[in-house]
Amino acid sequence: MAGSMSEILSFIRDNRQFTVMSHTSPDGDTLGSALGLVHMLRAMGKEAEAVCSDPVPGIYSFLPGADEVKTGGEGIGYPAVIAVDCADKCRFGKVAKFFDRAEITANVDHHGTNDMYASANWMEETAACGELIYRLIKELKVELTKDMAACLFTALMTDTGCFAYSNVTEQTMKIGGALIAAGADNSEINMKVFRTSPYAKSMLQADALSRTKLYCDGKIAVTTVTLEDMARHGALSEHCDGIVEQLRDIDTVEIAIFIREDVTKLKGSFRSKRYADVSRIASVLGGGGHKRAAGYTCVCPMEEAVETAVRLGEEELQRCLKA
Ligand code: 5GP
Ligand code: MN
Repeated sequence: MAGSMSEILSFIRDNRQFTVMSHTSPDGDTLGSALGLVHMLRAMGKEAEAVCSDPVPGIYSFLPGADEVKTGGEGIGYPAVIAVDCADKCRFGKVAKFFDRAEITANVDHHGTNDMYASANWMEETAACGELIYRLIKELKVELTKDMAACLFTALMTDTGCFAYSNVTEQTMKIGGALIAAGADNSEINMKVFRTSPYAKSMLQADALSRTKLYCDGKIAVTTVTLEDMARHGALSEHCDGIVEQLRDIDTVEIAIFIREDVTKLKGSFRSKRYADVSRIASVLGGGGHKRAAGYTCVCPMEEAVETAVRLGEEELQRCLKA
């Protein structure tokens, strides 16, 4: 069961105060969707707050409402709690307590691995969770403001590789167009998110890429970043964003693997180019995601994590060969 939009419409209509939750290590889709939803709820005369376990990365600080996102476990914790872009409860991090304490909960997501953990659920495998929020706005006949449009356009742009990936449909483009018509500034958002890099980020990425290792005749590419690497460059964990996509860009690569050290765990990211299903690999490791982009966390030495990820990558390539 993937729930339905109507479950979410009732959840929104029947409640007045909402806490909207994004996932840990937030990206443009989870933040854009959550803030778009907060703006929509307020436009309906309801109270809403956005919460996230981790800080908002600098590249998303321009999003309308980004300065109001409560992080690190801060927040009011309203009776109705709605999670966006979170495939499972492990994605909540420090804000899980709001979900656990809530009177009623909802889950709006686009990951096929979603386990329907809330009282009201809606999972549809769209290009971005932002598409689902856009459809809620339309269905509820709320006027689409410039702020909502900027948030949702960022969600679409970040989850589709700037409208380039195979998850883009005619519907995605139509929604993108409607968001531009409502005031989203395509080139300004693109510049802020994809074409602006602090020096420390550029140097960390160059360092990580220069240590890339290839396996399986170049079909698998792997690199890693430790806390020490980040400290040496004066970089933050958010500055690792984009490394795994650059690994995938290598012409021979089908599966890209990037593992970074966090304070208490390792965070792994997988990307595939044309045929491998990396959500299968991430699921084996306790994570999840999409066919072409998935992730997981683990607690073990870095060399062991690399070895395991490469072995699972090889097995996935073997499986595809046989299929
Ligand atoms: P990223 O590698 O950019 O962190 O994530 C890629 C995709 O995998 C995203 O759609 C993200 O939501 C999902 N993902 C990343 N890490 C995890 C995880 O630990 N668990 C689950 N279920 N999904 C994850
Ligand atoms: Mn997403």
